[in-house]
Amino acid sequence: MKNRILTILLLFVSAVVLAQEEPMQMKPEMTEIWDPEVAVVTPGETPMDAPSDAIVLFDGVDLESEWTSGNGGKPGWTVEDGCVTVKRGTGILKTKRVFEDFQLHIEWRSPSEVVGESQGRGNSGVFLQELYEVQVLDNYNNRTYRNGQAGSLYKQHAPLVNACKKPGEWQTYDIIYTAPRFNDDGTYFTPPMVTVIHNGVLVQNHVKLRGPTQYIGVPEYTIEKHGPKSITLQDHGNPVSFRNIWIREL
Ligand code: MG
Repeated sequence: MKNRILTILLLFVSAVVLAQEEPMQMKPEMTEIWDPEVAVVTPGETPMDAPSDAIVLFDGVDLESEWTSGNGGKPGWTVEDGCVTVKRGTGILKTKRVFEDFQLHIEWRSPSEVVGESQGRGNSGVFLQELYEVQVLDNYNNRTYRNGQAGSLYKQHAPLVNACKKPGEWQTYDIIYTAPRFNDDGTYFTPPMVTVIHNGVLVQNHVKLRGPTQYIGVPEYTIEKHGPKSITLQDHGNPVSFRNIWIREL
């Protein structure tokens, strides 16, 4: 009996001693990660200017190095005064390079002479991977359907606000795009995701797309799988201009 009491007492004392043992002491350096060192990028002079790791897609002069028309031929748009302008009826512009995830800077200007209304005024578009349109439209005092105005992911997400400048003024889009990943059956494993900053104002906050942009009907959830694709600019018949286009692959 005495032995049993002694054993119980010993076990109790050991348990108390063990419980009081200090947990491993964390130190600041134990959660610091040093390698590999973060790559250095030299920023542009202003946030509008291309940083050192960007691919300049259009510098205001040379269009043909990076762009073709929709059928792969010479681009049909007009390069003049440091910008490229839609030439009605010549079709889209398309990058020769193809991209997956990226950060894109592009500047656009709707014509100073206001012609048309709603979707007919200064309409163009920046198509991400040829399939997903960020709408370009003159929405300065120009009502249209909210999910089709400037800064919308056309017919899928209205912009959070209307940050349009006056017609004839240069405007900026900074677009952060994550390409979709696919299941074997062609459905999205993760959908395309887009953030858009219009003239420094957040208008799309990491929104998910349901499928490729559709003019009529609901975007398809199931499409053919696609890999890297081009950036394309829309010819909607209005003389919209573009300049200072650069991209960083992510
Ligand atoms: Mg458009």
